[in-house]
Amino acid sequence: MLVVMSSQPDVAEFSASAVRAWLTANCPPSMRTPMTGPQDQVFGGRNADCTDPAAQVWLERMASQGWIAPTWPREYGGAGLSPADARVLANELRSLGCRPPLVAVQGLHMLGPALLEHGTAWQKERFLPAIAAGAERWCQGFSEPDAGSDLAAVRCRAVRNGDEYIVNGEKLWTTHGMHSDWIFAIVRTDSDVASRDGISILLIDLASPGVEVRPLPLLHGESEFAQLTFTDVRVPVRHLLGPENEGWPIVRSILANERRLLGLERSAGLATRRRANLLDLARRRLDCGEGRLPDPVLRDQLTAITFDDLSAKALSVRGGLHPAGLKYTTSRLNQRKADLRARLLGSAGLGGDGSCFDHTELGMTSDYLESRGWTIGGGTSEINLNTVARQELGLPHLGPEVRR
Ligand SMILES: Cc1cc2nc3c(=O)[nH]c(=O)nc-3n(C[C@H](O)[C@H](O)[C@H](O)COP(=O)(O)OP(=O)(O)OC[C@H]3O[C@@H](n4cnc5c(N)ncnc54)[C@H](O)[C@@H]3O)c2cc1C
Repeated sequence: MLVVMSSQPDVAEFSASAVRAWLTANCPPSMRTPMTGPQDQVFGGRNADCTDPAAQVWLERMASQGWIAPTWPREYGGAGLSPADARVLANELRSLGCRPPLVAVQGLHMLGPALLEHGTAWQKERFLPAIAAGAERWCQGFSEPDAGSDLAAVRCRAVRNGDEYIVNGEKLWTTHGMHSDWIFAIVRTDSDVASRDGISILLIDLASPGVEVRPLPLLHGESEFAQLTFTDVRVPVRHLLGPENEGWPIVRSILANERRLLGLERSAGLATRRRANLLDLARRRLDCGEGRLPDPVLRDQLTAITFDDLSAKALSVRGGLHPAGLKYTTSRLNQRKADLRARLLGSAGLGGDGSCFDHTELGMTSDYLESRGWTIGGGTSEINLNTVARQELGLPHLGPEVRR
């Protein structure tokens, strides 16, 4: 049972000024400073190692208001806000410079909405409040060694045995799999039908016997990815999300949420996380003051990026882009920003580690490398373009069917 105590008064009537007053009174001062790097992010979970007491206080206060998942119903840990009121809250958080109290992308933004729409009453009560309080951390188990873009090719099998499924198979590229408590996994529950049929979604406790979670080492030696193996893992039938064999539409809605989120988050720009903006950086590197940049080529590139950035933001705020288009546009845009930033930095932008690079320079190198990965994660650029071509533009598809 999760109990979050708060000595702070609730916001009696929702308005921008009431929200601002509450945030001003309740957000610890250190949580109103820019994050200095990934170590400042709070992910929550059973084994959360939140070493900063202020971050813990901030999480608990926001959770007690239901403002971690503001649009979710109150009985599931949310605040029951309308989307418009949730935007007011987000604006106030942004304008006061408050840090995100919880970064729980997979649970809050991918699984949560799917549970609200397709979950049983038991599933909603069991899982949603724990997500909204940061008490349990989730990861996404979609990709497999031979099923990435073509997700309908998954081979991880779940065979019904009384009140349980017995799960055997593998998952790959599971972001933060090593630190998560639960996984929402695509499994095959019927192998004798066309590939999109016979697919189901299971909610699997990673502490179950038979689950092996191994880090997937990357070139630089660290890893935020896991490879998971399931060997005769027993999962209660009540952990099935949606109907057996008919999980495909839910998979698609989770993917759309993922792309929308990645698009919106990325369109907010890496600068919101820890980077100076490009113009300031250019001025510093060229050692010039205010006014026009002396280099016309650089001026041109910066202007193009700034305009594309503004139009992507405007479109995403108006909800005018298909999630696949949004994710494609913003992930490409962030690559262009990261490229330009790296070129501005010259050799200072090549730091992997070591004392000859400062914290900001190291962060920019890591942003540059990350910007590559984010044209792959959440569906590759090619797959997203195919999706836009077919679903938005109604173009015929040529070649193999695109499933993601
Ligand atoms: C940063 C990051 C985070 C990730 N996090 C997760 C996670 O948490 N959970 C999870 O399940 N997965 C995760 N993934 C995996 C990711 O979803 C897959 O890598 C991605 O969908 C591509 O699949 P693949 O790697 O198997 O490549 P493939 O599908 O083998 O594709 C290889 C290349 O072929 C192209 N291609 C494939 N099919 C077509 C087609 N029909 N038309 C045109 N081009 C095509 C692709 O665009 C790509 O360039 C993550 C990946 C990254 C990089």
